[in-house]
Amino acid sequence: MTVLSNNTSDKRRERVSVLISHFLTLIVLIAVASTLMTLFWGETESSPGFVTEIILQPGLNVADFGEINRLPNPVLKRVFGLHGQSELQRPVSSFGLTETEIIARTRRAVVLNAEKLSKNWTKIRLKFALWFVFLMLMFILLKTARIKRGNRPWFYLIAVILFGVCLGSDPSPMGTIKDMLVLYGRERVIFPPRLVALGIMLVLVLGANKFICSWGCQLGTLQDYLLRLNYAFRKTRLLRLYKPSFKLTNTIRICFFTLVGAAAFAVSVDIVEPIDPFKIFNPFQLGIGGIVFSSLILGLSLFIYRPWCHFFCPFGLVGWLFEKVSIFKIKVDYDRCIACEKCARECPSTVMEAILKRERVIPDCFTCGSCIEACPTQAVRLAYGKRQRPPDHKFI
Ligand code: SF4
Ligand code: SF4
Repeated sequence: MTVLSNNTSDKRRERVSVLISHFLTLIVLIAVASTLMTLFWGETESSPGFVTEIILQPGLNVADFGEINRLPNPVLKRVFGLHGQSELQRPVSSFGLTETEIIARTRRAVVLNAEKLSKNWTKIRLKFALWFVFLMLMFILLKTARIKRGNRPWFYLIAVILFGVCLGSDPSPMGTIKDMLVLYGRERVIFPPRLVALGIMLVLVLGANKFICSWGCQLGTLQDYLLRLNYAFRKTRLLRLYKPSFKLTNTIRICFFTLVGAAAFAVSVDIVEPIDPFKIFNPFQLGIGGIVFSSLILGLSLFIYRPWCHFFCPFGLVGWLFEKVSIFKIKVDYDRCIACEKCARECPSTVMEAILKRERVIPDCFTCGSCIEACPTQAVRLAYGKRQRPPDHKFI
């Protein structure tokens, strides 16, 4: 008896150490490959700074004003609405703007110009194009129930490599909303391309249940992959999946979102920046805080389904609100359902149980398709329209 239990715990220890070494190898490979790709794209700098002081002396013309404050011509054009080079010689006072207006306009123009220059537009266009193709492919595969336990991790890995390692930490669904909130809080400025990006992401959520998070987000898919890595060792009880209650995760996520907004509006501070786990795909911008926090998130991902998405992500929260009205979502056909609840057990979070029993609050569903695969009667589908209510007493 003692020999048997020693053997079992030896095997368990062995499996845990194999899992940990797989985990560490993967993270190191991602960090190294992302560093190389960041060098390839030439993006080792951190995000644009903000103007602290603007010098405005009486009698200056536009060119002098630009020179004293080191403002490039596109900024001057935006501030004064210039129509040609000759207007650079016009006195600043001739534009009929007050000092306060000039300072406010200059601050805004500097920030917008820095935002524009900090972006690699080729890479951004490429990422959106690839997102479109990949998400369409995943949608078709999920609709036809062809995502299985065997191939699911590979799709996550492809998404991590493509959208994270190769195409970097920016843009991301999280970044679109967080950066917009912080920029507006600090400078009362909205960067129009970011608004467009956020609009596209939200349209995707409206179309098909957080699909961008499920299969497109570089950090989301990495967390999902890590959980599936643990699944390969699921008989090891030490690594049992933990499903925190949605009440807990969403309360923390709402508090965090409020804190991000309050810090940006009240003290002009971006509290996500120093801990941003997306920076794992741009290690040049990852400080000590980022390394510690990212390690924590990635380590927890082995036991908890998408901890960053559920506990912290600002897009996760907004996407959760939008997914209530998604056109396509995970639905149960109660005529086929035999109430075995296998789908709920297979779901990595508490959402399938809520969907199945049509509870009042439905947590985030990441359209992973585990429930579709688990159902023995094909009652769970990614389908169009509203969810039905289960017949009374179905789950007693
Ligand atoms: S919720 Fe998760 S998957 Fe969605 S944007 Fe945030 S980190 Fe990415
Ligand atoms: S209900 Fe759960 S298992 Fe089904 S797709 Fe959503 S997250 Fe995955």
